[in-house]
Amino acid sequence: MSQAPVLVVEDEPAIAETIVYALESDGFSVVHAGTGREGLAALKDANPRFVVLDVGLPDITGFDVCREIRKESEVPILFLTARENEIDRVVGLELGADDYVVKPFSPRELTARIHAILRRFERGSSGPEITEERGNVCCGPLTLVLDQYRGTCQDADLGLSRYEFGMLKVFMENPERVFSRDQLMDLVWDEPEAASDRTVDAHIKTLRKKLHEVDPDFDPIVTHRGLGYSFKRAR
Ligand code: CA
Repeated sequence: MSQAPVLVVEDEPAIAETIVYALESDGFSVVHAGTGREGLAALKDANPRFVVLDVGLPDITGFDVCREIRKESEVPILFLTARENEIDRVVGLELGADDYVVKPFSPRELTARIHAILRRFERGSSGPEITEERGNVCCGPLTLVLDQYRGTCQDADLGLSRYEFGMLKVFMENPERVFSRDQLMDLVWDEPEAASDRTVDAHIKTLRKKLHEVDPDFDPIVTHRGLGYSFKRAR
């Protein structure tokens, strides 16, 4: 295992302590910074393998820290956000963060997400089997025709609903990444507040059924218990 530390940028001592303890118990070495500027300095000094970054920091925002980091580093970044309905989530992902966790979170969820991102990141350079051609996203037998909101599998139209299409698009553009039900609702649903965990599960179920009917061997959606769903790259 690499000895490079995880950098935790978090100003609230109690939360920082919990995170540092959880990560160290899990075998990581940890560097803690209490402000955005300290975090940026630590990035240079410690050369971390992973950054856990609070959005609400006392000097500069986590978003600004993320922008600065991305100017010079591809290190995986996981945001900590304070509120359930923060628009920040989507903004954070657009800034080049790899994931986010909403406070309060369990230390176990946090470390599980860090492991999932590191696995994806450390395997990522092998080259995706997901390709984009003429504005379509393709993976194995599956093609999303983006400008027509249509999905085909082995050239058969899947008859996707808008939410099924939306989830497949999010999945295929972020293979191997674990999305929680909340994240899927935020990214895909027009009114996330009106949807529930069960809504997402119900659409995943119909989506799997549609794929299965066309190709019984093609089962790219993976369930992660307690976390959510991800999309496998083609074999
Ligand atoms: Ca904070």
